[in-house]
Amino acid sequence: MKNTFVTKEKIEEIAKEFPTPFHIYDEKGIRENARRLYKAFSWNKGFREYFAVKATPNPYILKVLQEEGCGVDCSSLTELMMSEACDFKGTDIMFSSNDTPPADFIKAKNLGAIINLDDFTHIEYLEKLCGLPKRICCRFNPGGHFEIETQIMDNPGEAKYGFTKEQLFEGFKILKAKGVEEFGIHAFLASNTTTNAYYPKLARILFQLAVDLKNETGADIKFINLSGGVGIAYEPDKPQNDIEVIGEGVKRAFEEILVPAGMGDVAIFTELGRYMLAPYGHLVTKCIHQKHTYKEYIGVDACACNLMRPAIYGSYHHITVLGKENEPCDHKYDVTGSLCENNDKFAVDRMLPEINIGDYLVIHDAGAHGFSMGYNYNGKLRSAELLLCEDGSVKQIRRAETPQDYFATFDFTGIFDNYDYNV
Ligand SMILES: *Cc1c(COP(=O)(O)O)cnc(C)c1O
Repeated sequence: MKNTFVTKEKIEEIAKEFPTPFHIYDEKGIRENARRLYKAFSWNKGFREYFAVKATPNPYILKVLQEEGCGVDCSSLTELMMSEACDFKGTDIMFSSNDTPPADFIKAKNLGAIINLDDFTHIEYLEKLCGLPKRICCRFNPGGHFEIETQIMDNPGEAKYGFTKEQLFEGFKILKAKGVEEFGIHAFLASNTTTNAYYPKLARILFQLAVDLKNETGADIKFINLSGGVGIAYEPDKPQNDIEVIGEGVKRAFEEILVPAGMGDVAIFTELGRYMLAPYGHLVTKCIHQKHTYKEYIGVDACACNLMRPAIYGSYHHITVLGKENEPCDHKYDVTGSLCENNDKFAVDRMLPEINIGDYLVIHDAGAHGFSMGYNYNGKLRSAELLLCEDGSVKQIRRAETPQDYFATFDFTGIFDNYDYNV
């Protein structure tokens, strides 16, 4: 069972001011979840969550997380700029990029961010470009398959990220010789995991690696970044991760591997995105058409441009028809958007209560990798983002795009200068 954090009455009231579709985020839920994470890792003195900005790049969301003690994990120039504008400073910022353009490295270096190198060749690239910082992190890729109890979780050997093990040892030696004083290691080996075993297993690999790196290179390892990948169950009948159990599992590995090696002061970092935000965002949309052909279609006013995960990954996103939470799910529908693409379906053959034109639908778990993956295909405009504040008020935290925004990059042509935008 997945519950909404807004009622039908609340959405009707909000929609008077902000027409659908829109994304709405639950400040209370975001804060409580961030506090659970910090509590689960409170055994580690230097623990810090660096929120993966790409999941929900909105300054108001970043500010909420900042107030809960989080830093930010950026991977591009504009994410760095947004973080700077939100007053994240220096080591509040992890810069975990790949195939990094020069301007991005320069900005990260100027901000004093912790640069996480994705590749061996980036050592020389960064040095020539703007010099090496005193503190640096390197991303590890062990290759092969990543397994938990013989179950294949993901395929790092096919992933473009990170140093091989040999490159990592060599890289640490070179960096040390070039004057780098403080080191971190990072790895992201499986995405959207729904087992409490992922972080503890990853931690064991990285902790042992840290001990070996220290012994062989003498590097002073200050932190280990477990990155993202702790996921959420999108389906209502699947169990959610238990962050307390995950924190305990990492603690056990820490006490078994790092503490005996005299590395008990190493800080644990995370770079969670999905886990921090996904459940606390709804995409709210309205039924505007019903179509009866070979199947029963519900046409809504949102489309894959607002949330593309179902279209590109075939992802399940739970849907609640507001006001009909307790009615039987005895109608089978495809819930579609208006793109000229047949994969523009939020649900296929979904059993839902009978839907009428004008009904509001909540598409769940859209708070991460939702709005941010949006695009403008078919000339569709990005929606507004709203924040349901802790006091129950609603704040617009990004306005909806207008046609003027869509045409703004033609501003040098004069074509739209005197265009009448009234419909
Ligand atoms: C995407 C990403 C994350 C966040 O991943 P989630 O699955 O949202 O937790 C963290 N770190 C890096 C480097 C990423 O690319």
